[in-house]
Amino acid sequence: MPDYVIAPPAQAAVPVAGGGLFPVRRIFCVGQNYADLAREMGNDPDREPPLVFSKPADALVINGADTPYPSQTANLHFEIELVVAIGIGGSNIAAADALSHVWGYGVGIDMTRRDLQAAAKKAGRPWDMGKGFDKSAPISELVPVSRSGHPATGIIELAVNGATKQRSDLNKMIWGVPETIAFLSSLVALQPGDLIFTGTPEGVGAVVTGDLLEGSVAGVGSVRTRIA
Ligand code: MN
Repeated sequence: MPDYVIAPPAQAAVPVAGGGLFPVRRIFCVGQNYADLAREMGNDPDREPPLVFSKPADALVINGADTPYPSQTANLHFEIELVVAIGIGGSNIAAADALSHVWGYGVGIDMTRRDLQAAAKKAGRPWDMGKGFDKSAPISELVPVSRSGHPATGIIELAVNGATKQRSDLNKMIWGVPETIAFLSSLVALQPGDLIFTGTPEGVGAVVTGDLLEGSVAGVGSVRTRIA
């Protein structure tokens, strides 16, 4: 045993459909990856390069568990997203080889303190406290590629209290999974255990305590959490 001076932190992990746990190293998130969402946020989707930010691995909320309404916000938003689970790491991965690095997929909700994010944008400051706060990443069980394939098309949607708020298709992503992996791996060495939230379609909105969020991606799975 290493001579740690405090107890080492617990390993973050996501349950796998059918059994087992996927250990999580880092969570990367792509922003404004659907054209209509970029327009909703006041940007030109044709002129923006990929935007990447991070959440801590322990921001995950396991499927079915409550998501506590966070402190320091009055505008908590949902963003339903396809999640990529990296099984084989690498740097400068070619888009043509990128899918061979994927272990599987999941469905995540990028919870966002929209008011803090907007203030950070306006001030030219980092987004961290708008995006990477505690319990900001509810996630479904993960499915291996052997079960899901590599979804590039299919409905992605989210409902609040049974009413559909977001509904789009994975084929509307500006940067697909191969291009996203190629881009990210040009910036950092991707490692086994990394998750990539791939961006959300239009229709994001605010929730309040008591709301039930249910999201899904066709062929991948579904995620469910209540704001508590
Ligand atoms: Mn997002």
